[in-house]
Amino acid sequence: MKKTSTIEYRTSKMRELEILKEEDKEALELPRTSVEQADTTGKRKLYIESYGCQMNFSDSEIVTSILQEGGYATTANFENADVILLNTCAIRENAEQKVRNRLKNFTHLKKKRPEMVVGVLGCMAERLKTKFLEEEKIVDVVAGPDAYRDLPNLLSEAEDGQKAINVFLSKEETYADISPVRLNSNGVTAFVSIMRGCDNMCSFCVVPFTRGRERSRDVYSIIKECQDLLDNGFKEVTLLGQNVDSYKWASEDGSETVNFAQLLERVALINPELRVRFSTSHPKDITDEVLFTMKKYENICKYIHLPAQSGNSRILKIMNRTYDRDWYINRIDKIREILGEDCAISQDMITGFCSETEEEHQDTLSLMEYVKYDCGYMFAYSERPGTPAAKKYVDDISAEVKQRRLAEIIDLQLRLSQERNNREIGTVHKVLVEGFSKRSDDFLQGRTDNNKKVVFPKENYSKGDYVMVTITSCSTATLKGIAIKS
Ligand code: SAM
Ligand code: SF4
Repeated sequence: MKKTSTIEYRTSKMRELEILKEEDKEALELPRTSVEQADTTGKRKLYIESYGCQMNFSDSEIVTSILQEGGYATTANFENADVILLNTCAIRENAEQKVRNRLKNFTHLKKKRPEMVVGVLGCMAERLKTKFLEEEKIVDVVAGPDAYRDLPNLLSEAEDGQKAINVFLSKEETYADISPVRLNSNGVTAFVSIMRGCDNMCSFCVVPFTRGRERSRDVYSIIKECQDLLDNGFKEVTLLGQNVDSYKWASEDGSETVNFAQLLERVALINPELRVRFSTSHPKDITDEVLFTMKKYENICKYIHLPAQSGNSRILKIMNRTYDRDWYINRIDKIREILGEDCAISQDMITGFCSETEEEHQDTLSLMEYVKYDCGYMFAYSERPGTPAAKKYVDDISAEVKQRRLAEIIDLQLRLSQERNNREIGTVHKVLVEGFSKRSDDFLQGRTDNNKKVVFPKENYSKGDYVMVTITSCSTATLKGIAIKS
């Protein structure tokens, strides 16, 4: 594994690491896995583990639904599984290395039970295709993100002793009709996928190659999924896509079209008790219409994840982000003008992209100071084979310099997060309770509208409640408070 991996945590994780006990630190590094189903009699047992972004976790819920229909039941214990699936991420080299290491853990099991099927899904499967079967002998099935409907067939081929692969990328597949099986669910918050793929071709990014062309899901299937979630007691949905602001759906006869702002409005109107979040926004596409829609509805949360990637216009140009520093700052100014100072903003940044100078790195730091981000996800550049950057530019910033720059932006983000949280002390927030706090069952934890984690004494409140909480103290990661008596 590359040295870089040790500090490529999301900063929210880093901030949490500061305040967590040793055993919790380990938990944060583990992938999400499937849960034990109550009735498994006569069914083949499926164990699924997910790596990477929220889209992947959401895809694992679609895969589980497809395989439950195909007669499988989930298990939380891979030792008893008939099928082990790893839903993988290819975004950085260390993400792929993690999966290869994990596959090694299953080798002894496969030797003992050669009939057990091991499958690899998702972005790494799509990127490596048949190479996966050649390089990792333990793998029986390889399925890309658009091939999940074919999994029952692929698994049965593998059960007959053949290697099976489907990495066909579709222009239409959105899995609109599939009702996801919620895995690791707290019963309060859920992800809803609204689109797939990406057409943006940022030069560093492998996603357009692993997830294919951008396509938007039928608006009616999205509304139905959100309504079903509400009917089942959920109180918050996060609409997911690589670039949600370019959501665009049209009915077959073209008489009805829906853009992202209109979709947001329709979801918000389902019920004022249902909170609505979304991720990820692209700075080139986020419109004033979206910002005004956020302002209009109390239940659309005032939090925007707006990845910048760099604060320097030349670097943004060679990253092919299609906006420059001034454009990005204009979007931030609009957010502040329309939604005010309390709207939280988070970033993604990459350090040490090809040819980045010290002055250009300083521009990233100064942009961060300007925006005063609430939190961020920061990474050292990792060259991905086949991407435009890998073909056109030299990965010429040394690992040491990338890491030093990364450490500088993480330090700055920690200070900014602390400052942004300090200003919440003394204010009152409506918190949606997600469950017990990690440390004690005497405390609950939930999120504010602007996506900050709040811990407060339990009293008579429970999961799923909206509670008005006065903030009394904070760390870089968490606000603490007490409920206001109603
Ligand atoms: N679609 C989202 C967007 O445009 O911001 C993000 C998708 S990507 C899964 C999440 C983040 O990973 C990116 O925002 C970027 O910061 C980071 N990333 C992508 N490719 C990378 C690479 N080659 N090296 C380091 N970080 C990378
Ligand atoms: Fe990758 Fe850019 Fe698409 Fe995000 S918008 S997924 S960074 S190509």
